[in-house]
Amino acid sequence: MRPTVIKSCTVEAFDVLLPAPFKTAKAERTEARNVVVSLELAGGARGIGEVAPAPHVTGEDQEGTLRALRSHIPRLIGSDAARWRMISASFQEAHPRAHSARAGLESALLDAWCRHLGAPLYQLFGGGSAEVVSDVTVPIVPPADAAGVARAAAAKGFRDLKIKVGLGGEDFERVVAVAGAAPGARLRLDGNQGLTPEEAVSLFARVSAEGISVALFEQPVRRDDLAGMRFVRERVSAPVAADESVITPQDAWRVLQAGAADVINIKLMKAGVLGALEIVGLCRAAGVGLMLGCMLETRLGISVAAHLAAGLGAFAFLDLDGYILTGDARVTGGFEAIGNRLVLSESAPGHGAVISEA
Ligand SMILES: [Mg+2]
Repeated sequence: MRPTVIKSCTVEAFDVLLPAPFKTAKAERTEARNVVVSLELAGGARGIGEVAPAPHVTGEDQEGTLRALRSHIPRLIGSDAARWRMISASFQEAHPRAHSARAGLESALLDAWCRHLGAPLYQLFGGGSAEVVSDVTVPIVPPADAAGVARAAAAKGFRDLKIKVGLGGEDFERVVAVAGAAPGARLRLDGNQGLTPEEAVSLFARVSAEGISVALFEQPVRRDDLAGMRFVRERVSAPVAADESVITPQDAWRVLQAGAADVINIKLMKAGVLGALEIVGLCRAAGVGLMLGCMLETRLGISVAAHLAAGLGAFAFLDLDGYILTGDARVTGGFEAIGNRLVLSESAPGHGAVISEA
């Protein structure tokens, strides 16, 4: 038997209680109900991957993810992990809507295969660099609390702060509070579909009139309102990013055709690894910018995203703070967090993350 043939596979729930509630315009989360896929190859190499389903974005949840992945185990056993692209395609054919489940499976396959080869995952993606720089997200909280989050992040060395807006009320005051608490930080706004096109333009104008510069305005309006995205894009001076509007490469193509975004925010939990690579190709060809974001992945899922970002060197904006938002101590390795940098090992094989206690 070839050493890269899959010998065993388990799929388990991985529940994470968040250190603080995470509130956006579309959801409030107090826990991440994730899933971990574990594979063992005939030659002894093991791989693990994480699924962080976001029901309000892809419609997936923990139960459905467990069901989809477990039902696929008989087809995985005996498959060659070196054919990971084909395995991913076969899972997608069987479960076309299990986007984040597929990402977890691809992560485990690539981890196992790279560990077998003895190669760090980022080198598989091109080996562009062994480190990346991320932002930190300020959720929807009262302005004084937002200032506290911003001050703490700036003290840790973060230079990019992403502020959640889109619930009306104190959006403007929250942005002003963050700007005051972290002078010199580059600010990104994320509406999470919560604004009308007119509200988005008006919020941006108020913030600009305050002398606050915005580096990116993410998904101000509803995901299916591409004309509204374009309306905002034509009226604000910051680049507009599509997040929820783009789950699959087909969505990315529609956004590009509609001229609806300057930047596309790719997430492994939306597009999977293969879908992410396809969207990267589309955006590069179209001259549209790239962002890599995350859902509520722990350090395990964030490690895979960090390897992808570092290996490709293609992303102008990184939002890989899931490891902070989940704060789970059971997962170690993957990268060293130094200030705002995620530094990968140049020798540890795979993504390098391990679960020390299940
Ligand atoms: Mg977003």
